[in-house]
Amino acid sequence: MAQRPPLKPGEKRGLPPAVKLTPKWGQTVTRPVVPTSYAMAKTADNPGLASERQRARLVERLAQQGIADADVLRAMGLVPRHRFVDDGLASRAYEDTALPIGFQQTISQPFVVARSQALARSHLMTPEGMRSALEVGTGCGYQAAVMSELYESVVSVERIPGLHDLAKSNLANWPAGARLRLVLGDGLVDGEPWGPFDVIVLAAGMSDAPTDLLRQLKVGGVLVAPLGAPDQHLRVIRRLRDNGSSDSGGFETFTFESVAFVPILRGIQP
Ligand code: SAH
Repeated sequence: MAQRPPLKPGEKRGLPPAVKLTPKWGQTVTRPVVPTSYAMAKTADNPGLASERQRARLVERLAQQGIADADVLRAMGLVPRHRFVDDGLASRAYEDTALPIGFQQTISQPFVVARSQALARSHLMTPEGMRSALEVGTGCGYQAAVMSELYESVVSVERIPGLHDLAKSNLANWPAGARLRLVLGDGLVDGEPWGPFDVIVLAAGMSDAPTDLLRQLKVGGVLVAPLGAPDQHLRVIRRLRDNGSSDSGGFETFTFESVAFVPILRGIQP
């Protein structure tokens, strides 16, 4: 660029005039609407980054609410809950609330998922490593994804074909998917071929303990379930001895907070 002559005493120099570009195609080029705040711009440009921050905040809240298991918190921080709900609900995905997923069912509240997993792990007495788990009630597959980060192998059974398909598509590219088997069936009986399990988690409620499922527990293994009617509580049942289901003394039960889950229903929905 040509050198400009040095300023004379008292001389002020303005900015050089902007080069004016005339579009060759002779049209008005409109700029995209500028979002009103930087935060919005970030969200619009990079939803992944925004949801990572929201998830980190969710994990902080879970820790404040008493979830102390670092592995559970890590798993909760990894699973993108917004991908498991309809686009219209994605902005609410990191609220600590259940949300509709169709078929009159809901995605579980994050605290309840974290709490169920933390309770299972803190009551487990089976040896570390190669642990297997069963989930009854896959729904959209959210908790199944969390569990695939915590156990070596996870079987998750769902009785509504539309939700089983939804979970399959939600989890199609899930990195830990190789540890996860999604089954269409009645979870109270159809997990059996892959049992016995270290951990069984029910994502739907029952009035009494499911005796068939308790038989699927390894000694030292635990079942976590919303049990009781009309008052439902999160309960942990641990298997103490290998003596069949007829001896109720072979299990011990621990009762925790009151919860409100949808009920378990029998058989595949036609
Ligand atoms: N696990 C889900 C929550 C699912 S809600 C999550 O991560 O958010 C409970 C689910 O249990 C519903 O999809 C319901 O269809 C299913 N369910 C109820 N009874 C069942 C049964 N006997 N076997 C398998 N699934 C069942």
